[in-house]
Formats: sequence, structure tokens, C-alpha cells
Amino acid sequence: MGFAKTHDILDVNSSLINSEVKLGGWIEDLRKLGKMTFLTLRDVSGIIQVIVKGELNDKLEGLNRQSVVFIKGKVQDTKAKDFDCEILALEIDVLGKAIHPLPIDPIGRLESNIDNRLNSRALDMRNQKTASIFKLRHHVLAILRKTLSDKRFIEITTPKIIGSASEGGANLFSLEYFGRTAYLAQSPQLYKEQMTIGLERVFEISNFYRAEKSHTGRHLSEFTSVDIEAAFMDYTDVMNVLESLVMEVYKFTSENCKKEQEEIEYEIKVPNAPFDRVAYSQVVDELKSLDQKIEFGDDLLDSHLRLVGEKHPGFYFLTDWPLKLKPFYIREKDEDATLSRSFDLQYGYLELSSGGTRLHDPAILKARLAEQGLDPALFKDHLQAFDWGMPPHSGWGLGLDRLMTTLIGIDNVREVVLYPRDPDRLRP
Ligand code: ATP
Ligand code: MN
Repeated sequence: MGFAKTHDILDVNSSLINSEVKLGGWIEDLRKLGKMTFLTLRDVSGIIQVIVKGELNDKLEGLNRQSVVFIKGKVQDTKAKDFDCEILALEIDVLGKAIHPLPIDPIGRLESNIDNRLNSRALDMRNQKTASIFKLRHHVLAILRKTLSDKRFIEITTPKIIGSASEGGANLFSLEYFGRTAYLAQSPQLYKEQMTIGLERVFEISNFYRAEKSHTGRHLSEFTSVDIEAAFMDYTDVMNVLESLVMEVYKFTSENCKKEQEEIEYEIKVPNAPFDRVAYSQVVDELKSLDQKIEFGDDLLDSHLRLVGEKHPGFYFLTDWPLKLKPFYIREKDEDATLSRSFDLQYGYLELSSGGTRLHDPAILKARLAEQGLDPALFKDHLQAFDWGMPPHSGWGLGLDRLMTTLIGIDNVREVVLYPRDPDRLRP
């Protein structure tokens, strides 16, 4: 019979009654009633009931749930109230057998813990909750690309294997590279800045690497970053780009991904825009009034951010950080050089994105490198581009995995990453 489907299950409906179809999928359930078997067949698009009669039942002998079958059958009316039609099987081929017991129950009747699920991720993907998360992630990626393209951002791909520590050495993975030491890129920062010279507005959606020894729900060693960099924009302009992207993601998925929301039992609610803009200095004052020990210039600790998050639930921008807390490439404010043109996008306590206006004057950039104890010689490749007509530019990096957790109301990035990497997890 081969294995070419005529239809995905989603496309089989009562308009096809009496026609023959060929369907392929996984057995979700088998119920034998006398000489008849009710088989529920699932493919990526949906689920349908198949009636198996007479000798054809022999094909199902000893067959476990989650085995792959290919079924030729006739579409007919059904009495089952959950379905619009059903299939009367005419031929059945078993194409792939599943063992019993399986390491996890993919139907999700038995709740499995995240570690067991990650150890059997491919099987976990047969759980409609899990599959829905990754279908949502697909739609998020698509709408991000579309929205940025519509704003004339050009997608680029920068190298992930790099020759020198681009933003200081901490948190870098190193690897042996033909007798030399190379590193895995932490971000596309320097390359995306350079690309504003020729392409003006660029974006990248790629994985980046951080050797973070952290065991939190928001840190992984490999994460997906959405990055933009735009010439002739200030930090407030790229904040607006970020806000509209987040809004598009929420609007699109809340309207177009109803089935996925049902499966994950979570309703995506479009946030109110514009998001609040809260200055770092205001947050410090708020923390002081909560009797926290903090002074202007101190970084915000996790405990601080929890309190700030209680006061500002949902999305808000935390802006105008002290310059000394920011990387060397961030530009100061004209009216107060101790402050920077920078922001984080927060969701409650959770940081989703960091961005700012960049320095584009090479002399100031070199001075700033030295100030931060970084050797300008290590940045030779990067600095040379600043003598080739570098425009003023701004950008940000957004953690896609963290954004996904806010979108679907969970608190562990491992749920939204196929095969997460953390200090304990390198396989599968
Ligand atoms: P944090 O302080 O939460 O560790 P960061 O300030 O070090 O984050 P950035 O360098 O600003 O992170 O990176 C930009 C964005 O990339 C972050 O706001 C976050 O959404 C995401 N990100 C950074 N590191 C990780 C990681 N280890 N795992 C998942 N996402 C990350
Ligand atoms: Mn940050």
C-alpha cells in the first residue's frame, strides 16, 4: 500500500463521506468490543476514530499504543459525538512498533516529571500539551520574522565560533580549534553592530552560549536570542520596536492559536501598551522605601527584582541604568554622563531583554574599553570598522525562551526548549 497519505486528519470531514482516504499516524487508543475495534489515530494535525472489523483485527494483535500505522479506509458518518465522521478501515499496515511500557505516558494521563520527559523528548512530543508549546514557538518565530521584515530589518547569521572573547571573558565556553583556542559566541553584539554600516537595520534569531553555572528556571547554557541592531535609532526607538514586536506576538498567538491554548489550558492575554517606562533611579527609591539596602549605582539583585516585580507586574521597561553597570559599548546620556541610554524589558521580576544606544565614536569606545580593564588590542577587528563610516545605532537582545515562558504562563525555560542544556544536562 506504500505510505503516501492522501490527507492529514484535520482535512478529513463529513464532506468526504463515502470516499476512500489513506491516513498515517500513531495509535492513541485501542478499544476492542467483541469483533470490532475502535482505534483512535493521531497525526500532527488531529485525531480521528477508525473502525476495524473482522479479519483486519488480526493486524492489531499484540500491537501497542503509539505504534505507527498506515490505514486505507472509507469515510463514513459517525455516532461518536466528538467526531464529525469516522473511518471504516479497509487495509492496515503496521509501519513502526512501539514497546510497552513506554518510558513516559505520552497521552499525559500520568503526569511525568520534567526530567523524565526531557529524557524521552521525542515521545513527550506526542503529548499534545508539549506539541502545542512547540507549535506556538513556531508561530512566535514566524511572526517575529514577519514583523521585523515589514519594518525593513534584514535577517543575518553571525558566526557562533569566534576567535576572541568579545565582551570580556566570563561565561565563555572555549573549544579546541585546529590547535588554537576558540570560543562559542555569547551574543552577536559586535557583528550586528558592524552590519549597520551596510545594512542599517539587521536582526538575528540564533542560539548563543553562556557557561552559566546557574540552576534557575531562566538560565540555560544554550539559549535562543532574538537580536536587532538599527542605524539612526536611539534607545527609545528600539524600545518601541521591541514593544510592538511583543504586542504582535501576543496578538497573533492569542487570535490564531486557539487549539494550542486549549491544549496547554492557558489563555494568552494581550497586554496593555504602551508598557510603563520606569527609570532605574525610581526603582532604587522604591526599594529604599521598602527598607532595602541599596544605593544608586548598585546592581539589582534577584531579591530586589522580586520586590520590583511585585510593584510592577507584567511588562515594563527599566531604563537609564548607571553607565558603570553597563558593557563598554553602551552610550552615556547627554544630560548626565553617569547614566546610560539603556533599558531592560522586564516581565515582573524576569528580565526578557537588554538594550541601548551604542557608542559609535571610536576614540570614546577605545577609552571606555580601557576604563573597563579590557585590552583594545583584542578588539582590533571590531574597532577597525568604526573608521569605515559607522552610523549612530541602537539595539537589543531578547531571550526567546524567556519570552515563551511569559507567553504561556510557566516558569521554567526547559519547558519551551527542545533539548535544554544546563550544567547537569548535556544529553540527550
Ligand atoms: P541575567 O541577568 O538574567 O542572567 P543577562 O543580563 O546576563 O541576563 P543579557 O546579556 O542581557 O543577559 O542577554 C540578553 C537576554 O538574553 C536576556 O535578557 C535574557 O532574556 C536572555 N538570556 C541571557 N542569558 C540567558 C541564559 N543563560 N539562558 C536563557 N536566556 C538568557
Ligand atoms: Mn541583561
